[in-house]
Amino acid sequence: MGPGFRRDDDLGSNLIITCPHCGARPVEEFTFLGDAKPQRPTSNDPSSMEQWFDYVYLRDNPKGRIDEFAHHSGGCRAWLVVTRNTETHEVHGTVTAKDYAVRAKKSGR
Ligand SMILES: [Zn+2]
Repeated sequence: MGPGFRRDDDLGSNLIITCPHCGARPVEEFTFLGDAKPQRPTSNDPSSMEQWFDYVYLRDNPKGRIDEFAHHSGGCRAWLVVTRNTETHEVHGTVTAKDYAVRAKKSGR
């Protein structure tokens, strides 16, 4: 199970994530890597060190909706981005990491 996920038998919930390739699968099949929003700096110039520091070391710890990288390590082995609520663990959607990157590029993030 990835960070932030737990079974809560009192709520009777079993976390299910819908992989775009495999369909509805249990959360135990996925490995989570964290926030998908930080974008890798495009420059290697020394003047971009502050951007690199932010990209490598600084992460938000949001309450509410978050987009997280997930690897379907127990299934098709595709990289995905899962949108979930950190408070309720409700999963709002799943897209391939490629589609997420294309969407982020179009929106100018
Ligand atoms: Zn899959």
